[in-house]
Amino acid sequence: MKYRSTRGFPTSISFSEAVQLGLSPDGGLFIPNSIPTLPFNWPSTFFDLSFNSLALEIFSLYVPESEIPRSDLEVLIDRSYSTFRHPSVAPLTKIKDNLYVLELFHGPTFAFKDVALQFLGNLFEYLLEKKNKKEGKEERITVLGATSGDTGSAAIYGLKGKKNISVFILHPFGRVSPIQEAQMTTVLDSNIHNLAVKGTFDDCQDTVKALFGDTEFNSKYHLGAVNSINWARILAQITYYFHSYFQLLRSLNLSPEAQIKIQYCVPTGNFGDILAGYYAKRMGLPISSLLLATNSNDILHRFFSTGQYEKVLVGSDANANTYVYETLSPAMDIVVSSNFERLLWYLAYEKTGKEDEASITVKNWMQDVKDNKGLTVDEEILNMASRDFTSCCTNDDETLDVISRYYSPESSDQVSHIFDPHTAVGIAAAEKKQNEGVIQICLATAHPAKFSKAVETALKNAPHFNFDEILPPEFVGLLEKKRRVVRVEGADPGLVKEVIEREIRTEMS
Ligand SMILES: *Cc1c(COP(=O)(O)O)cnc(C)c1O
Repeated sequence: MKYRSTRGFPTSISFSEAVQLGLSPDGGLFIPNSIPTLPFNWPSTFFDLSFNSLALEIFSLYVPESEIPRSDLEVLIDRSYSTFRHPSVAPLTKIKDNLYVLELFHGPTFAFKDVALQFLGNLFEYLLEKKNKKEGKEERITVLGATSGDTGSAAIYGLKGKKNISVFILHPFGRVSPIQEAQMTTVLDSNIHNLAVKGTFDDCQDTVKALFGDTEFNSKYHLGAVNSINWARILAQITYYFHSYFQLLRSLNLSPEAQIKIQYCVPTGNFGDILAGYYAKRMGLPISSLLLATNSNDILHRFFSTGQYEKVLVGSDANANTYVYETLSPAMDIVVSSNFERLLWYLAYEKTGKEDEASITVKNWMQDVKDNKGLTVDEEILNMASRDFTSCCTNDDETLDVISRYYSPESSDQVSHIFDPHTAVGIAAAEKKQNEGVIQICLATAHPAKFSKAVETALKNAPHFNFDEILPPEFVGLLEKKRRVVRVEGADPGLVKEVIEREIRTEMS
């Protein structure tokens, strides 16, 4: 199995290179050269497998044995999911008839990004060690990323203490939630460096991009990326679609080959989580449809409704110069969804049947997004997209309404649940798109205690609600713990470079 760039260059690189590069040199994203098919008899052979064993079977289809021997891959997987608190890693919970949630928040930072980043951290360390051994060197890499909250903490927990890897995570000072800030800055391992930058998340992101583009700096420090464009993150997320499918069949006492209609509802920002579902479906998992759930930042919902992918200015005043609403589900406050480019490639490819033509089309579309703030696909392509996807947009009021409606500790005819605001966006979408005879599985992307503002607002009138009852022990006292963080007085690449060089000198001394 080799990998290619969505924009056409290169057309054949190894899995290891794709993971280590993150982004392709031509600005595109890496995709596998073909989507692997499942082994004969997969429903019965996969039916009873644990999360880890299933991950091994799926990853093996995408990672050649010559690059990572199966036994090594197994060790990497076991190490990655041993940090999860739940024995089945990602349990499926029944909410009511035909509605389930897949709890993806049992990892170290209580958000679904742990599923991918615990694995990516171990994978980075493994690939680096292997390369160093082969070349007789002791090369180091510097992982650099910007975060508005969840990615940063998951990356830090995935990479803390890893050999020969220094990690620099930029967050906008004072603009991430107190719990998220504490999760990141209370990790005291010497290879972890938090930079609290004066500015916005976009400023941090631009600075990171500038440093990746700085050839001299990049080649000196061997920069590595952990953002959601990394192929290994998508790969790691495919597992839980399969795992939840079999959990559902088992809980309904159905046979491996049972014919049921399942819709997955996915709270979406950067299109990474739902893209993994698309791969699962294309591999042959019988998913009826993927329901893409957005908050008020609905560019993807508008695409699946009209075929137009267009940034629009938001805000009430005439001089509004932002494209993003600040919502109660901040991890989905995104305008341009980076992983969407991968789906666009498949759509363009399906239309022409030619890989290089698909890449040219994607390149032109992405240029349109850059120049004209949008792209438009024709009806044929929109129809192809609609075979796999449907979409729905949910505002903050509806999100709060969902959280309060499912919390009912006194009710005898409904089990009480507390959803985080991102999951609630998914549940709201599921309710709106409910269909006779279709079982819906909503991906629960974060633990409610992580997003206290929305949960407390929604439940402020609930008679007996006390936020402390949902607080995991790991969060108790977290805000008072010792922190290590460097303040940076502006999102200036020169300034950030100085800090990185100084911190690395200190780390090595
Ligand atoms: C990142 C994140 C999302 C969005 O996932 P994408 O892969 O970017 O679509 C949703 N919910 C939570 C809690 C997240 O952290």
